[in-house]
Amino acid sequence: MNKDYLEMNELACGFRRGWKIDMNESIDIFSLAINKIKNLTIVFKKMDNGISGACLKLDKENIMFVNSIHRKGRQAFTIAHELYHLKYDDNDFNICGVDSDDEIEKRADLFASCLLMPHGAIETYKLNNNIKKWNLDLIIDAEQYFQISHQSLLWRLRHFLNEISYDEYISYKEDISYNASIRGYDLSLYTPYLNKEYFTIGNYIKLVELAYEKDLISRGKKEELFLDAFREDIVYKFSEDESF
Ligand SMILES: [Zn+2]
Repeated sequence: MNKDYLEMNELACGFRRGWKIDMNESIDIFSLAINKIKNLTIVFKKMDNGISGACLKLDKENIMFVNSIHRKGRQAFTIAHELYHLKYDDNDFNICGVDSDDEIEKRADLFASCLLMPHGAIETYKLNNNIKKWNLDLIIDAEQYFQISHQSLLWRLRHFLNEISYDEYISYKEDISYNASIRGYDLSLYTPYLNKEYFTIGNYIKLVELAYEKDLISRGKKEELFLDAFREDIVYKFSEDESF
């Protein structure tokens, strides 16, 4: 098995251990990253299709940018990829493309894949589901379970596990939204997270609120700062009347 793959899998498993996450469980990286990294802000922003995200390390704050037009599965992969830069890369700023040949980018991609789905987790999943040979039904079930992108699961099965042929890889790539729909799944994994072109979550929002609570900024300034972060929903409380 590929040496880089095993090495990045070890790193990703260590990362999971650090976060006290079970090795075999699927994770919601969107809320988990915010929950575990207190000085992290994630900005969803419409970018060129070839850019998946970026990562900026400041003195006390970390900011990730995620391309808001990509599908949720791809965005989860991007957040996991940017976590590699945050934790293991000395550069303070990275812009990450979709298909990059750069060595660090390749390692970050492998790390991301293994963080979302550790090697042991996919082996356990295969055992638990009695999978001997992958087909499209089983692949879609697995990507839904791990909440990872269709493309990254196919890439893993083809290039690192060698469990599907090139022809299967090509034929399984097509029409994923339709193929997931007819298997009874909703399309959230294949649509952008929150379906918003601009949105911010994480520490920035908390800090603005805190500054207001401590009388460091006026209500007008607070609203301005929320609007700067594309959070008119907080300023105008759009969802306050929703009932459950
Ligand atoms: Zn990168």
